[in-house]
Amino acid sequence: MKPIVRKLLINLIIIIVVLVGIDKWLASEADKEVLNDDASAKQVENQLEGMSVHFIDVGQADSAYIEFDDYNVLIDAGDWSGDEVVPYLKEQEVESLDLVIGSHEHADHIGQMDKVLEEFEVKEVWMPGNEHATKTYYRVLDAIMNSEANYEEPRAGEIYEMGDVVLEVLNPYELTGDYNNDSIVLKVTYDDVSFLFTGDAEIQAEKEMINEWNEKLSSTVLKAGHHGSETSSTKKFLELVDPSVTVLSYGIGNDYKHPHSVVLDRLEQVNTDVYSTASHGNIIITTDGKNIHVETERERKVIPGD
Ligand SMILES: [Zn+2]
Repeated sequence: MKPIVRKLLINLIIIIVVLVGIDKWLASEADKEVLNDDASAKQVENQLEGMSVHFIDVGQADSAYIEFDDYNVLIDAGDWSGDEVVPYLKEQEVESLDLVIGSHEHADHIGQMDKVLEEFEVKEVWMPGNEHATKTYYRVLDAIMNSEANYEEPRAGEIYEMGDVVLEVLNPYELTGDYNNDSIVLKVTYDDVSFLFTGDAEIQAEKEMINEWNEKLSSTVLKAGHHGSETSSTKKFLELVDPSVTVLSYGIGNDYKHPHSVVLDRLEQVNTDVYSTASHGNIIITTDGKNIHVETERERKVIPGD
């Protein structure tokens, strides 16, 4: 047997064992109803108490840390070649994480997840469940197996409550094998304010979400899909999300020429304030559930990469 095939088989067996052995620790599934936020949430001058969402500057990659009540959640963990996520979380005095989500299996999203799992006590990990034959993927898989974390593959329609915050899974319904379009898309709602994390979901996934969720996609803050690529952030999707603030996560001078000018044009048309990790560094949005406050490391114009 070739080593890669043997490794795949071993991993598959481990996954099955883990899947059979877990219970859901998160709160019970509520009604299948996506919450609408109050479109009147305003940006205010001062930092707010309640929930904070940190879009960490991880270069051409994604990572967002969410903090509320006594909960810590991480959505994506930067690129495999970087080392920003653990130091950033340590700076925030994080000791443990209740939930770590790998939106999908690409190395610019789960890149440092193994380090996170080794460094912090992680209670639960979510991934879509596609197998990906890369060193990064197997390293992360090993780290999950070697940790005490529960492992889940959530599907669209599932709703979880963590304290005063509601997490709603809007994608995927079922796996298609297309890594980007199988991204876990999560709407995080705290009172009247909501954040939509889209991973690298592209046109196909956006279409499905438009059909299924329609105006329920409406969110105060959008983490735009796929680093501002023209293959995501379609006009109709943006119109339905109708975000007050949009965050793009990418590295300056990246090979993909993200963000594409057509996406920045579409964002302008929906009249949203655009921030990017490349231009603004770490971006911290705090909310009291009514209004939001945006704090950035630096102030620079967001310019297209193409
Ligand atoms: Zn990506």
